[in-house]
Amino acid sequence: MEPVITILVSAAVLLVILWAACRYRKFYKSEHFVCPNCGHCWKPPVRKLVFSVNAVEGKILRCPQCSEKVYVEPVPDKTAK
Ligand SMILES: [Zn+2]
Repeated sequence: MEPVITILVSAAVLLVILWAACRYRKFYKSEHFVCPNCGHCWKPPVRKLVFSVNAVEGKILRCPQCSEKVYVEPVPDKTAK
């Protein structure tokens, strides 16, 4: 591989990691998930978020309350129920 391409690829990977880190930081600061099945609100551990399946905007996660596999999107913490 050309050195320039190696540098470009490395920079792109670094950007994606930085973007993901910012996204997770924002999530833990001001957002949470709500289970569409039972209404349980939770913030999963970061390693579960990183290794969970991405789907459009949200995630496929197992709800800790009803243990259903559900599609969840980040919800701002301030949203009134
Ligand atoms: Zn649930």
